[in-house]
Amino acid sequence: MKIAFIGLGNMGGGMAANLVKAGHSVRAFDLSAEAAATARGNGCETFASAKEAVQGVDAVVSMLPNGAIVKAVYTDDVIGHAPEGAVFLDCSTIDVATAKEVIEAASAKGYDMVDTPVSGGIAAANGGTLTFMVGGTEKAFERAKPILEAMGKAVIHAGDAGAGQTAKICNNMLLAIHMIGTAEAMKMAEKLGLDPQKFYEISSQSSGYNWSLNAYTPLPGVGVDSPADNEYQGGFATALMLKDLRLAMEAAENSDSAVPLGARAAALYEDFAGAGNGGLDFSAIIKTYT
Ligand code: NAD
Repeated sequence: MKIAFIGLGNMGGGMAANLVKAGHSVRAFDLSAEAAATARGNGCETFASAKEAVQGVDAVVSMLPNGAIVKAVYTDDVIGHAPEGAVFLDCSTIDVATAKEVIEAASAKGYDMVDTPVSGGIAAANGGTLTFMVGGTEKAFERAKPILEAMGKAVIHAGDAGAGQTAKICNNMLLAIHMIGTAEAMKMAEKLGLDPQKFYEISSQSSGYNWSLNAYTPLPGVGVDSPADNEYQGGFATALMLKDLRLAMEAAENSDSAVPLGARAAALYEDFAGAGNGGLDFSAIIKTYT
């Protein structure tokens, strides 16, 4: 298949390389010359604009920083420029409203399109083990699925347009809440004199069981190996968690949803990122509990 790939950053670079490995011919574009050069090294053909990259393709995949950029790229360079009948897959994490708007604009011109944000970080993007949560019609999903399978380990149809983004932000709001809850409980147990490793052994097999504790233990030297054991480097950056929490708060407001814990988690991550910790893994928030 001929696939255009727009946005070859930390995530998109590895994803485009995996499409090449799966035998696709990838026509890539990024504003950054460095990212484009890396993509060429990985077997992509690169172009001077998105408009050129989408010529003659069967599909367009994008992995871009935010909703405003996704909207501009699709409106200016993709819709009406890619061949009739091409399918579009936006893998970026963006707000639900923009995702729906861009899919509507694409379908008004006869294109199938899905919003398909990912779970999994840079290692999963490079390793082809991302999880894709997909919003769009059944037909668009079926067309997108084989392309996504070349970049991930799980591809799930969440529902109609925008449902992928909804799943992503609700999941990450829950993740932020249970990470903070885990941090609070671990630090309080420690202050009360309980050995943190004992707390981990007990709670990870009791009703406190949760992913942040069991699979991503935020204290160094306790529980499983995690970014905490690497000075909170790698993993999922606090700045990206904050981005997702802001999107979640916007969606909560738009849908009149009560999210008192989500709002508190967003405020705590605002403070933590604002104190210069945006580059640390999000589990480092445990350091604020002294
Ligand atoms: P990144 O900043 O590394 O990459 C984005 C790329 O898009 C950059 O190379 C940039 O030059 C390019 N770009 C920006 N505007 C462009 C335009 N108009 N045309 C073409 N290229 C353009 O970001 P990333 O970490 O790869 O994240 C990409 C998306 O994936 C974001 O929406 C992010 O929220 C999401 N995400 C990231 C992670 C992660 O761990 N990094 C995990 C899950 C989801």
